Amino acid sequence: MNDVIKKLRKLSSGPRRARLVHKEVDKRVGALFQDSAVMRNVSCRQGCSACCHTQVSISDDEGELLHKIIEDGHNIDLERLKKQSIASKSSTTWYRLSYEDRACIFLDENKSCTIYNNRPSVCRTNHVVGDPKDCSTEDGLERSVRLLNTFEADMVVMAGYSQCEENGALPDILYKLINGNKEVLDLFTPHKSITQVFKEFD
Ligand code: SF4
Repeated sequence: MNDVIKKLRKLSSGPRRARLVHKEVDKRVGALFQDSAVMRNVSCRQGCSACCHTQVSISDDEGELLHKIIEDGHNIDLERLKKQSIASKSSTTWYRLSYEDRACIFLDENKSCTIYNNRPSVCRTNHVVGDPKDCSTEDGLERSVRLLNTFEADMVVMAGYSQCEENGALPDILYKLINGNKEVLDLFTPHKSITQVFKEFD
């Protein structure tokens, strides 16, 4: 992985580092899909968006890339992002959101990713083997799912995280970038617990 880290160190812009990580991740995931057994057993299909309703982690480099896409005119539901940013502080509060409010802000009504070519690295490595019904969290419960072993690609994701300043929940990182580094909780009275803030926001 040192070669990836060396390449990342030569890049001074977050979006360029994010794109390099995406390219290196795709290379390794693509190699796995050369195997017919992988093709046969991965049950992810277009139009299934179950994992786009769960918590997605990104690096701040990926956040900068997404922020740039928004600044360039990509429309998002800012209110939903704000709600998600509050809820993303813990998995308990996250799963208290309605299924609709948990939908990634980049998911469209046809269950397609509107930023597919720029989607975060974890969205590129997540492939389920087994029954895709287990991926559903519509009832607010997370079940254990069997994932394709993407060790090499995961190491690239880790290399990317090691070269950025921060990583965390997509809504949280993105909300901060959009709001000039203001945390969503800064908008509320200080010293309140996340649960109190969440109630207030509801
Ligand atoms: S970025 Fe795209 S693939 Fe990733 S969770 Fe959002 S909609 Fe789904």
